[in-house]
Amino acid sequence: MKNIIIFGAPGSGKGTYSDVIVARYGMGHISTGDVLRNEIKNDTELGKIAKGYIDNGQLIPDELMIGILAKTYDSLPAGKGVIFDGFPRTIAQAEALKQMLAERKHDMGIMLELVVDEQTLLERLLNRAKEQGRADDNEETIKKRFEVYHKQTEPLAVWFEKEGIRNTFTWNGSKDAMLNEIFSFLDAQK
Ligand code: ATP
Ligand code: MG
Repeated sequence: MKNIIIFGAPGSGKGTYSDVIVARYGMGHISTGDVLRNEIKNDTELGKIAKGYIDNGQLIPDELMIGILAKTYDSLPAGKGVIFDGFPRTIAQAEALKQMLAERKHDMGIMLELVVDEQTLLERLLNRAKEQGRADDNEETIKKRFEVYHKQTEPLAVWFEKEGIRNTFTWNGSKDAMLNEIFSFLDAQK
């Protein structure tokens, strides 16, 4: 499979859909949120820095994120394609991703944008708070994450549009329907 960038607001299902895409097409998976949560769990230098930002609903500075990108990408098996989940989140990150891939003669492949109304996002995140107890899934931090998303991340959709790889899927209340749409689209890409 080509590389895939999965893009959407907090709670839009990037992690959930990434897992099923990985299972179906046997590709690599980079979730920057998971990388950071793991660093926090292991109490590393990066983890200590990241925690302050995550707990406040803010983005980790671009230099730090870009620094771990190539290392993580090169640690995955080559040639099977990678799904980028939660990265890029800023224009600077997107430019860095494009350049990192170009240096390897790879390309960004396909961007999948998940569009979900904000009421549904909020319900999902509050539900996840009960199930997984993530520190940043409380109502105050969720509101900040939405703001940060609108300001810093959402404008990237147009950047991808200009790159000619933006593909939008809109939530209509059924997880299976959305999944089928995504699978039929990806099946046609291989
Ligand atoms: P999902 O869509 O999977 O439900 P999410 O968008 O809320 O989740 P993650 O992608 O897991 O969450 O990210 C959690 C937090 O980690 C972000 O709010 C941010 O603080 C930090 N983070 C993750 N990826 C990046 C990134 N690429 N740049 C900066 N900060 C990041
Ligand atoms: Mg996630």
